[in-house]
Amino acid sequence: MLYYGRLTAILLNMIELDRTSLEYQRMKIAERAARKAKKRAELEPIRIDPNAPAEEYIVLTYYKYVPIEDPDKFAADHLRWCKENGIKGRILVAKVGINGTCAAPREQIEKYKQMCWADPRLADMWFKEDIGDQYTFTKIFVRVKEELVTLKVPGIRAEDCGEHITPAQLNEMIEKDPNVVLVDMRNRYEYDLGHFEKSVPLEMESFKDLPKAVDQIENLKDKTVITYCTYGVRCETGSAYLKKRGFKKVYQLNGGIGTYGKECPDMYWKGSMYVFDRRVGAPINKTKNLVISECKHCGTSCDVFINCVNAECNAMFICCKNCSEKMENACSEACKAHQRNPEEKDFLVMLKRRYASRYSENPKTGMIL
Ligand SMILES: [Zn+2]
Ligand SMILES: [Zn+2]
Repeated sequence: MLYYGRLTAILLNMIELDRTSLEYQRMKIAERAARKAKKRAELEPIRIDPNAPAEEYIVLTYYKYVPIEDPDKFAADHLRWCKENGIKGRILVAKVGINGTCAAPREQIEKYKQMCWADPRLADMWFKEDIGDQYTFTKIFVRVKEELVTLKVPGIRAEDCGEHITPAQLNEMIEKDPNVVLVDMRNRYEYDLGHFEKSVPLEMESFKDLPKAVDQIENLKDKTVITYCTYGVRCETGSAYLKKRGFKKVYQLNGGIGTYGKECPDMYWKGSMYVFDRRVGAPINKTKNLVISECKHCGTSCDVFINCVNAECNAMFICCKNCSEKMENACSEACKAHQRNPEEKDFLVMLKRRYASRYSENPKTGMIL
């Protein structure tokens, strides 16, 4: 009897050991998932009412292709200035120029613009302005990069880009010339949230996929192509790339969708514009075609992006409030079943709470989000 007891104890010990290592694995997964959840929570979107009165918190978007000899020094000085003056955002500096989005109250933003314009290289830099709030950006990054937009195709220079056209010229061209095609130079998920009527999407998850995506539009080489992107920076090298690939007539929308929305709202744009900060979807139109995207699960009209709760999947998809509850923020049944441990369940509850708050009333604008 004693012998059996001992044997059981040894066996139990072995199982315990095994369980410990399994526990360890689970713990690692949970830690990773929690890190991701934290990052996600920081990226919680805010919504801007298209008809809200102009407020004093401004989001600036800008770029300039111009030689910057010592980008490291430029970036260090720029970062110091931004920190001293309360500017938040993401700014990229390269040997070929600067590309940034940043936000601050009106007064600091004006100072920032003056500081940039005082630099002869940036004296004519065009700043596009949008309304944001103090949560649009919570940190400031100034990073040195090889390119302003990562394309990784050697020999593509912004100097070789397609001809710039204004929003009014774009309207005129698509109204008068049946040979004109609009090509969306953004990622596919951005297109899904909103795009120009009859425009052609490119199957890209990031701009680096451009060479592969262009294979699918070879048939447009003899058409008049107008490229567009958010504020114009991707078109500078994107249109140059199309020309290199043999597209004969290439134009690009100067100032991008953001500028089009200001000058020509409720015309040929449909949906909202994806932006890479906590606004996620910036309004372009005032009344017409505000939402064109649909919930991935049930197909109802919706433009709320969420990340799949399964940290190993992390897919970004459009999901309505009902389905987010029913599917527990998962992109598929498989991902829903994949939430295995209590830690994952915990942050699921947290995410749900946050998601619910997105649909509550915005005290500032009174808009139901
Ligand atoms: Zn749904
Ligand atoms: Zn998933």
